[in-house]
Amino acid sequence: MKTQVKALVVGGGAVGTSIAYHLGKRGWDTMLIERDELTSGSTWHAAGLLPLFNMSYATTHIHKYSVDFYKSLEEETGLNAGFAVVGNLRMAQTEERMDEYRLYASTAETCGVPYVFMSPDEIKAKWPLIRTEDLKGALYHNTDGYINPADVTMAMAKGARQLGVSIERKWQADGFHWTGSHWEVTCTKMIEKGGNLVPSEEQIVITAEHVVTASGNHAQRTAKMLGIKIPAIPVEHQFVVLEQDPALVAYRAEGNPEHPVIRDADAQSYVREERGGWILGVYEKEAPARFEHGVPDSFRADLFPLALERIEEQYMAMIHRVPSCEESGLKDDFNGPICYTPDGNPLVGPAPGLRNMWLAEGFSFGITAAGGTGYYMAQMMVDAEAEIDMASLDPKRYGNWMTTEFAMRKNEECYDHVYVLHHPDEERPAARPLRTAPAYDRQKARGAQFGWVNGWERPNYFGPLDAPEDFDEKSRSFRRGAWWKYAVEEARAIREGVGLVDATAFTKHIVKGPGATAFLDWFTCNKLPRVGRINLTYALTAHGTTRTEYTIVRLSEQEYYLVSAGAWSAYDQDYLKKAIEDKEAEFGRIELQDVTTQWGVFALAGPKARDVLRDVINDPDPATALSNKRFPWLSARQIELGMCPVNAIRVAYTGELGWELHHPMEMQNYLFDLLEKAGAKHGMKLVGARAQNWLRQEKSYRAFGTELGRDATPLEADLPRFVDLSKEFHGKAAMEALGVRVKCCTVLIDGPEDADPWGREALYHGETRVGRLTSGGYSVHFEKSIGMGYLPPELAVPGTKLQVKMLNSLWDCEVVQDSPYDPSNATIRMDG
Ligand SMILES: Cc1cc2nc3c(=O)[nH]c(=O)nc-3n(C[C@H](O)[C@H](O)[C@H](O)COP(=O)(O)OP(=O)(O)OC[C@H]3O[C@@H](n4cnc5c(N)ncnc54)[C@H](O)[C@@H]3O)c2cc1C
Repeated sequence: MKTQVKALVVGGGAVGTSIAYHLGKRGWDTMLIERDELTSGSTWHAAGLLPLFNMSYATTHIHKYSVDFYKSLEEETGLNAGFAVVGNLRMAQTEERMDEYRLYASTAETCGVPYVFMSPDEIKAKWPLIRTEDLKGALYHNTDGYINPADVTMAMAKGARQLGVSIERKWQADGFHWTGSHWEVTCTKMIEKGGNLVPSEEQIVITAEHVVTASGNHAQRTAKMLGIKIPAIPVEHQFVVLEQDPALVAYRAEGNPEHPVIRDADAQSYVREERGGWILGVYEKEAPARFEHGVPDSFRADLFPLALERIEEQYMAMIHRVPSCEESGLKDDFNGPICYTPDGNPLVGPAPGLRNMWLAEGFSFGITAAGGTGYYMAQMMVDAEAEIDMASLDPKRYGNWMTTEFAMRKNEECYDHVYVLHHPDEERPAARPLRTAPAYDRQKARGAQFGWVNGWERPNYFGPLDAPEDFDEKSRSFRRGAWWKYAVEEARAIREGVGLVDATAFTKHIVKGPGATAFLDWFTCNKLPRVGRINLTYALTAHGTTRTEYTIVRLSEQEYYLVSAGAWSAYDQDYLKKAIEDKEAEFGRIELQDVTTQWGVFALAGPKARDVLRDVINDPDPATALSNKRFPWLSARQIELGMCPVNAIRVAYTGELGWELHHPMEMQNYLFDLLEKAGAKHGMKLVGARAQNWLRQEKSYRAFGTELGRDATPLEADLPRFVDLSKEFHGKAAMEALGVRVKCCTVLIDGPEDADPWGREALYHGETRVGRLTSGGYSVHFEKSIGMGYLPPELAVPGTKLQVKMLNSLWDCEVVQDSPYDPSNATIRMDG
């Protein structure tokens, strides 16, 4: 057995095996160790469905790759992976569910996934055993189906071995030590004892440049060994196998093809054929999280007892949908651990705080995702980046505030939300409120309906004061929800008067010390600001794409305040920290402080913003304190608002005259009351994140996570004014080598009366799909829908006429110049 490799993969389930295969394919000397037998984790008992349906862009790419890849495995390995390409029929009992499919169709289209819509009559004509009279329609994928999870894993293992990967079973990784250049992984030989798998005395140390963990239900043990947090905790998941259904047997005997996998989303279940009978799988309520403190030694390829009472409702719904199965008895049952994460996406990418340590944990659709995860993970490891932006799957999307109980509650919620309507404006209730800034209660009392950002509660919009508890839930829609009119009023308030936005969730770091200036000059692509000034800048990946967007305030020669997106605190911090460690020897001592929870932020914006501040600023000459001369645009100053010391920054993400007021968190309520009182005279309105998101699109301000990410460079985001090509910076050569493959632009849309785009829609030029939207919303200024997205550079020019696919129809739109609202920034620079 080798003890030195380039990459060591820990875990021989579908996911680890695929990663080992793809690393082998990329020519890396790779070894996989498995503590038991391959597939002995969750993989062996999976139902093997490979649904392409997924609302996320990155995950859809991953699933699509898997489905194509699995089809090619037999030719490569000679092993039949048991892929039954029977298709997948996703049914809708309501028009709203059809809307969900119409929105999903946009994601499918932008990822090149084929689909068709079917009417109830078409379904009945094709599959007469299915009851259809209560259906509105269905979405049908003809390219997916189900696979034998063990067979596909064995085929990947064989393929991996053919590529030179060594696979060692009955070795458990028990300790990880980073030497500064490689990992030393202590592995223990596992032996059978009385049916249990126990560690022997035999140990070896494997040295590996890179380690990937794909430890499935053992993620909590892995986390402990690595000294990090991994919010992957399994939940019980069950499916039952029914005896033969005579009607089905007769139907097939007539030469009819196998039924597609039937998903009755409104009944939280899936059904597929199994040897003349049916399998029913459910995502029921109250399935408990398990193994939050680790998997007991006695649990090997085991199952939990069937909890039939939990799935009665879905059972009845299945009999309703396929009435002929009523007589079939129960033949077999599976209740196994299925790993979940708080948002349902797996954790794929570099581990927080560690070098060359990669996580592939928390897979709930791991059979479907294994192929694509292996492919994109190998790209990240070998090429430094994957060809798609993997940030939405990054393990660092949860910060250190995350706890075991949080993960359990959210994972249980995520499981029972698999089949809820996935509104783009969905907010999930479990484990909330958790991270609240002081003004939370005040905002709530003023009608705030909150959204969840990295654990923080942030107002999405301000609804009616007497709103019932379920107001927000009821206001969600795939079209314009009941919240829409409140956001319109809020957006107008900022354009015409003044509004206050709570931006406390922003990520904030201080970077200071003798090496700070040289470091940040290298780390970010724009010129550094002068003392007292700010700039907008980007940290790039080694691949030349956008890793993080920063607003940088220069507090002194060697001290900087960095503001970045609230959702990405741990993700941003990890990158900064590792870069500082790498560069400190070269640039000198650099100190990094996370001050996110010390500073609250209110953004005050609108033509009357200055008037409000003037009333409360403590300055020898309040009349001029906020004038262009004393407080120019893009500058920062320490001011006093009443008794509150404030670091004020003259910028506004809404594109109006405005200031961000960074204040000590403990004085937030004082400041809130002060501004509210002063603002009342000027008609100030509290404004939520939804209105802000629309307003920034009218100014073509790119947002991190939508326009800005690891799949495009700042030049492709069309931000050359923030890229200083006269200096050297991290990722510059790679960025230039990539060129401008696509370009970001803004479109105004003549869309439907009752809907706006969400930022997932495909863009068409004539018959050809040419790009996609990354943001969408409503423009109060132009009184029509607006969006931002990426197009081939030759089409990303003002005046290009395109069409956008919304709700499964094409709507005219036109590329407009950047910042269609106030292109000269006259309102932002307004003096007074
Ligand atoms: C009832 C049920 C039905 C399901 N149906 C489907 C489905 O239809 N479609 C779908 O896509 N998914 C399905 N799933 C989910 C799917 O089973 C999992 O997502 C998938 O198997 C996860 O694969 P994995 O490789 O991440 O984890 P696992 O298969 O659990 O593999 C992890 C492996 O790591 C090993 N390991 C752990 N720690 C160590 C260590 N320290 N050293 C060495 N080895 C270690 C374990 O022994 C294990 O073999 C289902 C799950 C359940 C429970």
